[in-house]
Amino acid sequence: MHQLIILGAGPAGLSAAIYAKRYGLKYIIIGKLPGGAVHEGHKVDNYLGFKSIKGPDLAKEFIAHAPDKIIEEEVKSICRQDKLFEVKTEKSVYQGQTLILALGMKSRKLGFKNEEKFLGKGIAYYTPTDLVELKGKTLAVVGGGDSALCAALKVAGSAKRVYLIHRRNEFRGAPALIDQIKAKKNIELVLSAQPEEAKGDGKLTSIVLNTGRELEIDQVFLEVGGVPNVYLCGELSVEMDNNFIKVDKRQQTNAPGVFAAGDMTDNPLKQIVTAAAEGAVAATGAYGYLKNIG
Ligand SMILES: Cc1cc2nc3c(=O)[nH]c(=O)nc-3n(C[C@H](O)[C@H](O)[C@H](O)COP(=O)(O)OP(=O)(O)OC[C@H]3O[C@@H](n4cnc5c(N)ncnc54)[C@H](O)[C@@H]3O)c2cc1C
Repeated sequence: MHQLIILGAGPAGLSAAIYAKRYGLKYIIIGKLPGGAVHEGHKVDNYLGFKSIKGPDLAKEFIAHAPDKIIEEEVKSICRQDKLFEVKTEKSVYQGQTLILALGMKSRKLGFKNEEKFLGKGIAYYTPTDLVELKGKTLAVVGGGDSALCAALKVAGSAKRVYLIHRRNEFRGAPALIDQIKAKKNIELVLSAQPEEAKGDGKLTSIVLNTGRELEIDQVFLEVGGVPNVYLCGELSVEMDNNFIKVDKRQQTNAPGVFAAGDMTDNPLKQIVTAAAEGAVAATGAYGYLKNIG
């Protein structure tokens, strides 16, 4: 039996592990993909201590800093059994007195015609790490936030042409990124538009927009944000706000012994620095809770 089970090994979970270790807690950390969404960042230039670093390299640094082995298993269910929590993975069952939920988000689907059909055949939710395959291609990125802007900048370095498609007439991403986008000659902004249909014969060849325009493209990246991975939390009866887990300033949920951190919480800024900070606060909260229950 563990005092604390940390679910998720992105920046929130890994930072929680560092603090759990400092507090001398008997804890485990479970995460399918150690490093989490940090792997997706092309060039991370907003994390203190690193002026500019590739996402996968920063993820490697985070994993190397993990104080104990990360259990790389997929969590299948989480429930409460009397005073303990039970976490089932595809391999084992783990029991703990407290939980930190740090499972991040998964990509949001747009729901246009043939989106599913061409998934992996010209439609993707993330840009690839290796950009060689995009060399000389015509691409599209859909979205208006930081991740879409970063994705467009990332692929523009290799692609012949990039259409950046956004349903509104202005981006909600950071002004510094928008300036970089505008300076790129091979990025065309396609505003007030969204995909209505994907076309192709086995592989994607074009996207039809709701404006009637049809763009011939080799690949489209849908960077339209995510939905929190709360599908495993049903049995815990944690309170949600618009599907994000509600937490107080100690990262505590309404369910005793259950803490949450990072992208799946209702805190508004979804970044590496905030995820790491919330993980630290959550572990501190769990430590205080365990001391109180003796
Ligand atoms: C394309 C892109 C670019 C970005 N660029 C930046 C940037 O430049 N700067 C910045 O600050 N932020 C950036 N972000 C945001 C940043 O990556 C996230 O805010 C941050 O990673 C959130 O951390 P987290 O620990 O909450 O979740 P995540 O990093 O998503 O980690 C979630 C963890 O939970 C695990 N998990 C999920 N479900 C299960 C399951 N069922 N079983 C077991 N494990 C599971 C995952 O494997 C992972 O280990 C970017 C995000 C994206 C998508």
